[in-house]
Amino acid sequence: MDQIKIGKFISTRRKEKQLTQQDLAEKLNITNRAISKWENGFCLPDVGIIPELCKILDITINDLFSGETVDMKDNEKKLEENLLEMARIKEQQDKELLSLEIFIGIIISVFLLICVFTASFIIMPNWLRILLMIIGFITFVIGIVFAIRIEQIAGYYECSNCHHKYVPNYKSVLLAIHSGRTRYMKCPKCAKKSWHKKIISK
Ligand SMILES: [Zn+2]
Repeated sequence: MDQIKIGKFISTRRKEKQLTQQDLAEKLNITNRAISKWENGFCLPDVGIIPELCKILDITINDLFSGETVDMKDNEKKLEENLLEMARIKEQQDKELLSLEIFIGIIISVFLLICVFTASFIIMPNWLRILLMIIGFITFVIGIVFAIRIEQIAGYYECSNCHHKYVPNYKSVLLAIHSGRTRYMKCPKCAKKSWHKKIISK
């Protein structure tokens, strides 16, 4: 909140209403020094006084805190624009996350294959073979855990029965049978089990 701007706004509205600082102070039952402080941007009116002040100045509380008359139509339009922009950014981020999931999948699979092949066909002590296999599998499992986490939070799943779109919990995504990104899960809305497709936008 811009105190200077609010102060100037109070001053302008007071003059438009043809009130002196003294007039306004008397109406609000306070000292004119307080009014002078607000108008110079040193402090804001007390919360208890604000409704009465807005009534006298013929402004809304939103106007007062904005330091200008806010056009309600513009306000809604601006809000809508911001919401749309936020939805667009989320979609973009979700798409990037899902690409990252594929990338993780490829990397861990290739790494596992390299570990298994090296351990199987290169001459080395047995303990090293076992260690290589273990490293390969552990990396694979960690990668899968991350990939499923991404799949859980990016975008939504859509119930094929009632078309409810939702973000499931980690456990249900982890335990569901799947074909690609489509998973056989229980819908939180209609409670029926069916194949739920991954979608980006709601
Ligand atoms: Zn459903």
